[in-house]
Amino acid sequence: MSEQVEQDVVTYEVRGHVAVVTLNRPQYSNAQNSKVTYALDAAFVRAVDDDAVKVIVLAGNGKHFSGGHDIGTPGRDIDQSFDRKAVIMWDHTDKAGADSRIARESEVYLGMCRRWREIPKPMIAMVQGACIAGGLMLAWSCDFIVASDDAFFSDPVVRMGIPGVEYFAHPWVMNPRAAKEFLYTGDRFDAERALRLGMVNHVVPRDELTEFTFAMAGRIAKMPRFGLALTKKAVNQCEDLMGQRAGMDSVFGLHHAAHAHNGEVDVDSLGGLDARSMAAANSKAEQA
Ligand code: ZN
Repeated sequence: MSEQVEQDVVTYEVRGHVAVVTLNRPQYSNAQNSKVTYALDAAFVRAVDDDAVKVIVLAGNGKHFSGGHDIGTPGRDIDQSFDRKAVIMWDHTDKAGADSRIARESEVYLGMCRRWREIPKPMIAMVQGACIAGGLMLAWSCDFIVASDDAFFSDPVVRMGIPGVEYFAHPWVMNPRAAKEFLYTGDRFDAERALRLGMVNHVVPRDELTEFTFAMAGRIAKMPRFGLALTKKAVNQCEDLMGQRAGMDSVFGLHHAAHAHNGEVDVDSLGGLDARSMAAANSKAEQA
C-alpha cells in the first residue's frame, strides 16, 4: 500500500473510561515516522483533556506492536516539518549536521517520550509481537507493559555504532547488567525474560491480551483521577531521583556523538544501515 492511500496512522477510541490509542501502520510493522509521532501526541492530548478518560491504553494494530523508527518505508518523513508545539529546539529542516539532528531528535524522540511519560493519567502499553528500538521508547514511556506470550523486545542499534535508542531507559526498566547484554548482543529478549527482569508486568496468551489489559485498565479507572495523577508523579519523581532523567540527558550526548561520528566517517548518521540491512544483520546474528 502506498503512503498516499495510507489512512489514519494512529487511531483513537474511547471504551468506557479507557482511551485506546493505536498505532496503525500494520503494513510496516507500525514503523514510526514523524507523522505517527505527532498523531500520537495529538491523541494523548485528547485523552488528557477528556475528563471521562481515566486510563490510556497504547496498542499496535496487527502482528507487531512496533518495529521501531521509520528508517526505510515509503512514508519516511525525516525531512518534513511538523506543527511543533513544545518548542524544545528550532525546526530542524533548514539546518545541517548535529544542529539538525539534535533539534529533530530532541523534539520527536526524547522530548515527546518524556512528555508522554509525564501524562497525568495511567498509561498501559499492550504489546504483541515485535517491540524493537523505537518501539521500546513508546512502551517504556507508558507506566507499565502487558505483553502477549509472542512479544519480544530488542534494541539492535549498537550495530549502527549507536549506544541505544534516544530514550535511554534501559538501566532503569531492567537492571544494568541485563541492559548491557541487551545492548551488546542486540538479542531479542522474549516476553518471559522481560517479565523476569521486571520490564513487563504481565505476560498473557496472545488471544487474551486485549481482554486482560482492558480488565486491568477498568480496575484502575475506578480510582480517583487526581489521586492517580499524584501517584504517577510520585513514582516518576522517585525514578528521576534514581537518576533516570539526568542519565538520559548524559546519554543523549553520547547518542549524538555516535550520529556525528557516523556522519563523519560513514555514508550517513546511521552508519549506512537502513531497515532492510538492519533486519538482515539481525537475523544473521541470531542464526550465528
Ligand atoms: Zn538518534
